[in-house]
Amino acid sequence: MNIKSQAFPVAISARHIHVSEKDLQALFGPNATLTKDFDLSQPGQFAAKERVSIEGPKGVIHNVRVLGPVRAATQVEISRTDAMKLGLNPPLRQSGDIENSASIKLIHQQREVLIEQGVIIAQAHIHMTEEDAKALEVHNNEIVSVEVDSERPVTFRAVVVRVSNDFSLEMHIDTDEANAGFIAQQAQGRIVKSCS
Ligand SMILES: [Zn+2]
Repeated sequence: MNIKSQAFPVAISARHIHVSEKDLQALFGPNATLTKDFDLSQPGQFAAKERVSIEGPKGVIHNVRVLGPVRAATQVEISRTDAMKLGLNPPLRQSGDIENSASIKLIHQQREVLIEQGVIIAQAHIHMTEEDAKALEVHNNEIVSVEVDSERPVTFRAVVVRVSNDFSLEMHIDTDEANAGFIAQQAQGRIVKSCS
């Protein structure tokens, strides 16, 4: 029998980049800071007005949005479709886990930075507070399956639960995952648990 938990919002993350202070200066000039465009749903996170081009061995993608605030290490999150266009084979990882991930060149006007690692395909995950985790009966780093209703419904497996009181309840998938399931912004997901 399958048990479904309460529904939560599913958000689609388009390709984006988190930059370190060092790479921000290298790309946008000394003393550059990020300019907030709009707030994202996770508290403190924002979409910046700054954009960069990313170049791999087979292609380039322009206008990739930078998200703020700055981080300790630069991280580029792209879809598998993007990776093919760029000629890269980035690993499927959780945000922050960039050891031995793919390399890429970042470009802004005449400035370029080659990052040795930092390109990942983000593993689908659900942000939630401790209270949400209790209500959904899951714990931090638990791997769950999530069903998302749509015209072409899909169930995502290997979805990571990420618990922190700095988060707000929301599942994040990339554009390939959204497109596969005909999922638009505002979709709702439910954790599906099988029990005997
Ligand atoms: Zn996320």
